[in-house]
Amino acid sequence: MSKIYDVIIIGAGPAGLSAGLYAGRSHLSTLIIEKAREGGQIVNTAEIANYPGSLDEESGPSLIERMKNQAKHFGAETVYDTVSEVELQGDVKTIKCLTNTYQAKTVILANGAYPTPIGCPGEREFTGRGVSYCATCDGAFFEDFEVYVVGGGDSAVEEALFLTKFARKVTVIHRRDELRACKSIQEKAFANPKIAFLWDSVVKELSGEELLDTMVVENVKTGERTVVKADPEDGMFGVFVFIGFRPQTALYEGKVKMQDNYIVTDENMNTSIPGVFAAGDIRFKSLRQVVTAAADGAIAATQVEKYLEAQSCSVI
Ligand SMILES: Cc1cc2nc3c(=O)[nH]c(=O)nc-3n(C[C@H](O)[C@H](O)[C@H](O)COP(=O)(O)OP(=O)(O)OC[C@H]3O[C@@H](n4cnc5c(N)ncnc54)[C@H](O)[C@@H]3O)c2cc1C
Repeated sequence: MSKIYDVIIIGAGPAGLSAGLYAGRSHLSTLIIEKAREGGQIVNTAEIANYPGSLDEESGPSLIERMKNQAKHFGAETVYDTVSEVELQGDVKTIKCLTNTYQAKTVILANGAYPTPIGCPGEREFTGRGVSYCATCDGAFFEDFEVYVVGGGDSAVEEALFLTKFARKVTVIHRRDELRACKSIQEKAFANPKIAFLWDSVVKELSGEELLDTMVVENVKTGERTVVKADPEDGMFGVFVFIGFRPQTALYEGKVKMQDNYIVTDENMNTSIPGVFAAGDIRFKSLRQVVTAAADGAIAATQVEKYLEAQSCSVI
């Protein structure tokens, strides 16, 4: 724990990688701590068409590969560890992980968000055995099977469209009687003959033997429950859940100012603690996308540099 970095970045999603690139390029000693693999949520998508300059048929993983290499090229180090506790006050911040403890003069909180589960019986038990939160990762396992997509926003409908590449039928289960997804995505989904809709419905229970083969769906208006069974020839079906995200802010509760569980920053990504910045989906903001995460990361790293300069001037 002897080294004190200029900046530690928690999370290697688009926000963290962008911050790493900018910090490294400014010759700040930079450590990115990532608990899983680089890329965060966007590695779960097969197509990212709205990141400026993205290549034709750019996938989340291919975009992230380039971001990762860029951050590394400019000198940002990465360790794979899970941050479990943070001490953010004072001139030196301490970041405790499951394996090691690290210290830095500044910290950028960029640990994003994670998919909201349905919260019904059987969901956890059948995750990886029929239940998924990642169409890109698991869609191919459902070649010629039936799948259900839970949700009605942009992600749910985009991923339903993607899943039609594999599944013979995709049914979108939505708790309302109309989609929340933007109109252009809705139009594509309504025009796709493989996509069906189960309106006003929620999933109440998931079950099966080894693999998911039964689901109880409730109509929220009538209270009527329907038991959906897998086609006997298939023996299983898939349920892909896209009903929102929760910010990963539990580590910072009571330490940093928050609103609706998201971290509050000013436009320069300053949190309520001097020397602590936040970037990406973890922030309280209006648009959570790769382009805004990358922009936040760039601003945060630039502000780190200014903060450190100001600190060194005040010491002199
Ligand atoms: C299915 C799907 C499709 C999407 N499609 C698009 C799209 O087409 N275009 C678009 O612009 N956006 C899209 N998004 C949104 C986009 O992925 C997010 O806005 C973006 O990834 C946010 O980046 P982030 O770096 O803030 O957070 P995240 O991507 O959530 O990354 C946070 C990182 O922090 C790590 N982490 C968390 N906790 C810890 C801890 N305790 N210790 C260490 N590391 C930790 C996580 O493992 C993760 O790698 C999509 C999202 C999903 C889920």
